[in-house]
Amino acid sequence: MTHLVVVGASLAGLRAVEAVRRDGFDGEVTLVGAEEHLPYDRPPLSKEYLSAEECPDPRYREEETFAGDLDVELVLGTPASELDTTARTVTVGERTLSYDGLVIATGAHARALPGTEGIEGVHTVRTLDDAIALRAALRGGARRLTVVGAGFIGSEVAAVGRTLGLEVTILEALETPLARAVGERMGRALTHLHRRHGTEVRTGVAVEEVLAENGRVTGVRLGDGSRVDSDVLVVGIGARPATDWLEGSGLTIDDGVVADETLAAAPGVYVAGDIARWPNALFSDVAGGTMRLEHWTSAADQGGRAARHAVDPSSAKPYETVPYFWSDWYDGRVQFVGIAAGDHVEVVAGDDAEGGPFTAIYRAGDRIVGALAVDMPAEVMKYRRLIGGRKTWDDALELAEQRRQQRE
Ligand code: FAD
Repeated sequence: MTHLVVVGASLAGLRAVEAVRRDGFDGEVTLVGAEEHLPYDRPPLSKEYLSAEECPDPRYREEETFAGDLDVELVLGTPASELDTTARTVTVGERTLSYDGLVIATGAHARALPGTEGIEGVHTVRTLDDAIALRAALRGGARRLTVVGAGFIGSEVAAVGRTLGLEVTILEALETPLARAVGERMGRALTHLHRRHGTEVRTGVAVEEVLAENGRVTGVRLGDGSRVDSDVLVVGIGARPATDWLEGSGLTIDDGVVADETLAAAPGVYVAGDIARWPNALFSDVAGGTMRLEHWTSAADQGGRAARHAVDPSSAKPYETVPYFWSDWYDGRVQFVGIAAGDHVEVVAGDDAEGGPFTAIYRAGDRIVGALAVDMPAEVMKYRRLIGGRKTWDDALELAEQRRQQRE
């Protein structure tokens, strides 16, 4: 192995190049990124980057680190446009990069609301440039913020809006926000959390039209004909894996790049981060099929793993993980481990009726498969260990009882 190419210069891509250098790989390494920016951290972009008086610098590393300690060639500002897995080449602008091993870590793009292109005051939050624009809008005298989509990123922006003193309305198409991510009952609990902080949440509503005057957003019209006035409209309707450039490459694309259990998508080609769809053996008995995560921790973890496999395919091992994500709402934290595809949810600490603090655990068959905590930061990692060890529901109830006694 002499040349590792990593496409996607964000979290998974950065962790990929760092991991192989840490392991002593002394071949050539090239990191390709579509954005002009050095790799930066996305979670703050919908949180403190918007709310803090002093704007934090989200970059992970200084530019010198890449040419220096990491000895990585950075190719920024131009997207890769083509992959040829037979010739083992990636096209980037005018250049054709030959690889021996390749990591694809091109993540995802924010989904836009059709028909809103070019309307001032309509935002998505995926990139640093998005966050710079939204920060200016929220702090530039806006009074009414409307968020389309009650997912995690939309919810975080709504929480920031309230903290900044704006009137905030969330519009959600589903009857229960976040039902797919955390289940119906917990989705309702998280809706209470918003309402407790004065955020209006309207569920089961469809945005029919975005209203604008002189090119500036003024509100939205809903399916029932009613109107919600707004100065700033944030669209948080999810992300679309950045697979366009892989068309014709022969890789299997199905809401992400489909890989095997070692994250291999083709000989010498491995995937990592938000773009990766792979069979997570830890849950094959309860959820089956493949999964794709959009979580910081898995992107970081998979980046290192994919790169190690790419430089030494003979060392490739199945990649299993207990998914983990956090989300900061108002002055508290929502944390989730595992999967929500269970047949029973039980609140084992606190009370979900008012949106927390509480901890709930998820059962599938006789296994614990997930845990959700709102404002109980010490809890979920304990359950994560049980989930990773394929422990039983009774083991989880026993742990819950121990935790209850410790809190008393
Ligand atoms: P990305 O971070 O999406 O990076 C992919 C990179 O590839 C991008 O820079 C993109 O420009 C580049 N690229 C795309 N196409 C090409 C191409 N053709 N050629 C070259 N480069 C290309 N997770 C949590 O667990 N907790 C949180 O609180 C949380 N908050 C978040 C808040 C926001 C606003 C966002 C957007 C995400 C948040 N996440 C959170 C998710 C987490 O940040 C992502 O899971 C993580 O960034 C994924 O990393 P990645 O490297 O796979 O992809």
